[in-house]
Amino acid sequence: MTAVVAAVDVGGTRMKAALVDRDGHEVVTLTRPTPAALDVPGALVQAVAGTVAALRAAAADPGDGAGAGLAGRDPLEVVAAGVVVPGIVDDVRGVAVWASNLGWRDLPVTAPLSDLLGMPVALGHDVRAGLRAEVAWGAAAGSRNVLFIPLGTGIAGALMLDGHVVAADGWAGEIGHVVVEPDGVPCPCGQRGCLETVASASAVARAYAARTAGRGGAPIDAEAVAGLVRAGDADAVAVWDHAVAALARSLVMMTTATGVDHVLVGGGLAQSGETLLAPLRKAVHASLTFQREPRIERARLGERAGCLGAACLAWDVA
Ligand SMILES: [Zn+2]
Repeated sequence: MTAVVAAVDVGGTRMKAALVDRDGHEVVTLTRPTPAALDVPGALVQAVAGTVAALRAAAADPGDGAGAGLAGRDPLEVVAAGVVVPGIVDDVRGVAVWASNLGWRDLPVTAPLSDLLGMPVALGHDVRAGLRAEVAWGAAAGSRNVLFIPLGTGIAGALMLDGHVVAADGWAGEIGHVVVEPDGVPCPCGQRGCLETVASASAVARAYAARTAGRGGAPIDAEAVAGLVRAGDADAVAVWDHAVAALARSLVMMTTATGVDHVLVGGGLAQSGETLLAPLRKAVHASLTFQREPRIERARLGERAGCLGAACLAWDVA
C-alpha cells in the first residue's frame, strides 16, 4: 500500500482536490464546482467529505480516466485529509471563521470532518498553506523569511518568519486590505483604496476597462492588459504602472516591517512574468535604503499551491 493524503482546496467557484504522496506528487486529481450555500451548518463538511469519497473512488477504479496511470501501482491508502479555505481561518481550533465570498461565520471543520471520514483532518488557510507547499516543493525551498503574495481576484498574503508560517489566530496576512490610496475606490471590506482595489488581477482589468470605456473596446482580463503593455499601448501602460507602484510601496512596507528577504508573487497577475516582476524589482530597489533587499520572483506551484498546501497540512497530522 502507498500512503497518500486527501487534499481539498475550497475556492469561491471551484474545489480543487487531489490524493498526494509524501513527495508532493498528485496521484489523483479532481476539480468540482463549489456548492452554493456553504454557510449552512454542515454543508462545507459534507462537500469536502463527498470530494474525498470521489477521490477514493477514482483511486480504486483506475479505468475511469480520473485515475489514469494508476494501473499496476500499489493500492493507495488515504491516511489523513487536509482542507484549505480562504478568509480568516483559525488553523489551531479547526474553524473557518469568516470568508467574504463564501458567506460563512465560525464553521467548525476539523472535528466533524474527522468524525465523518474516520481519519485525522487538518484545516488551514489557502494562501498560508500555499506558502508551506512552495517551501516544501516549490520556489521557496531553503528560504526562512518569505512573503507569498498571490495577485488574483483579491490579494492575500502569507508570511514565513524564521522558518515559521505566521497565522496570528488567522488574522495575519490581509495585505490586500492595507490602504494604499486613502481617496481611492471603495473596497467591499468597507475601506477605500485597499491594495486589492489597485493591484489585483481583477483591479487591473477593471481599471483598463474604465479608462478605455466609450472607445469601443471589449472588457479584457489582466493577462490581455499585460500583452498590451508589452505592445506599448499607452492606456495599458498607465494602468500597469499604477498597479506596480502601489504593489512596490506595499512590498517595501512589508519588507521593512517584517525583514523578509524573499517575495513570491503568485496568482493570475503573476502569469505576466517579467512584465510585472522587472518593474516591480526596479521600484522596490529604488525605495530601499538600509533594508535587506528581497529576492522577488514568481511562485512556482501556480493554482495548485492551495491544494498542495492542504496536503502539507494533512501530512503534519497523518
Ligand atoms: Zn479592502
